[in-house]
Amino acid sequence: VDGPTSGPNPDGVHAFLHVDHDGALARARQIDADRAAGADLGPLAGVPIGVKDVLTTRGLPTTAGSRMLEGWVPPYDATVVRELHAAGLVVLGKTNMDEFAMGSTTEHSAFGETRNPWDPTRIPGGSGGGSAAALAAFEAPLTVGSDTGGSIRQPAAVTGTVGVKPTYGAVSRYGLIALASSLDQAGPCARTVMDTALLHAVIAGHDPYDSTSLPSAVPDVVGAARLGASGDLTGVRVGAVKELSGEGYEPGVVARFEEALEQFRAAGAEVVELSLPNIVHALAAYYLILPSEASSNLAKFDGMRYGLRVVPEGEGVTAETVMRATRAAGFGDEAKRRIILGTYALSAGYYDAYYGSAQKVRTLVQRDFDAAFGQVDVLVSPTAPTVAYKLGEKLDDPLAMYAGDVATIPANLAGIPGMSLPAGLSEGLPVGLQILAPQQADDRLYRVGAALET
Ligand code: GLN
Repeated sequence: VDGPTSGPNPDGVHAFLHVDHDGALARARQIDADRAAGADLGPLAGVPIGVKDVLTTRGLPTTAGSRMLEGWVPPYDATVVRELHAAGLVVLGKTNMDEFAMGSTTEHSAFGETRNPWDPTRIPGGSGGGSAAALAAFEAPLTVGSDTGGSIRQPAAVTGTVGVKPTYGAVSRYGLIALASSLDQAGPCARTVMDTALLHAVIAGHDPYDSTSLPSAVPDVVGAARLGASGDLTGVRVGAVKELSGEGYEPGVVARFEEALEQFRAAGAEVVELSLPNIVHALAAYYLILPSEASSNLAKFDGMRYGLRVVPEGEGVTAETVMRATRAAGFGDEAKRRIILGTYALSAGYYDAYYGSAQKVRTLVQRDFDAAFGQVDVLVSPTAPTVAYKLGEKLDDPLAMYAGDVATIPANLAGIPGMSLPAGLSEGLPVGLQILAPQQADDRLYRVGAALET
């Protein structure tokens, strides 16, 4: 863990916002001492890990990539972080992200972008670009991310790493700074399917502190990864989602996807093409539901409770003027755009037309998945329509950036688990394959993913 304790890393990737040099070293020494004393440690004890800066860490800065929280040191650990400590993992520090997890490139971080280790002129994906780039740059073997509309899976795709969004409610949201509460889900990121499974097993499980936490047992994801590593998928039915490939997807991405389908067939799986007709409306529904929930969640950043407080000069300072000045200075452009959009969509007279309609579309998307999973065990698609594009390319064109989320968003709307894993290269850059499974069947992702990896 040599290097600066904050700021860009020497290699220029800038995966970390904060490195806990002393804390990590002390923790690693403690694990060593425990091991020497004969303690019964789990399989990941002593393994270093990066944590997306959206999860609260006691005693370590937590900014969610925003000026609004600059300098805030939470007094408590997120449940996920508590579980990492309990399993003996060594938290290296906090990874960079788009402000409040809004974005697909990490360029919306208030503290500078992260670069893709494959090509430093390109995006590492987002919002969790830091967590993915840390893996691809071999700065950490494991990281934790959060996925509201693809922020674990799309960065994994463009950095050639593995990322899983578990079933909604499988991993606690306690201490995960909320973007859109009905979509948010923390999950594991690593360089291999098995490493991802081992981390998944550590962070998943019921948490009484999260009212949407699932009460049921976590599926055996490690056993499933082991089973899949045999390379045999006999009897497994794989559905290729018709609407999530072809037009709008780069030819190199489609080519790698079709090769993956061939690989599934060669492994003994039955591969069919399935249509999920309402999935084409998922993107539009998401970009109404997300800003609506975000505008409500971000209302708490008012200059009174946490982080930044800007007191305007002059006479007549009121709570209202402090709030206005703080929010004007503290939020970046993308956060402001979504707060305005969400506030509008939720306002009286528009609520039914926008938010209400989006919720109906959400139900239709869920029904499409229910019907599809009546016919197949998993669904597959490319994770993203393109490989990593150039930094700056879509920064001034929000709609073009949103369009890149077309394949990842449906899983969040439906609450189902999804994995992205490497499917080869296109013009020297990584392409991701996405695997989707029914709610609480996260183990299927690992079986099928591990088989593709062999
Ligand atoms: N690109 C998505 C967005 O901007 C990702 C959000 C997320 O998963 N946190 O909303």
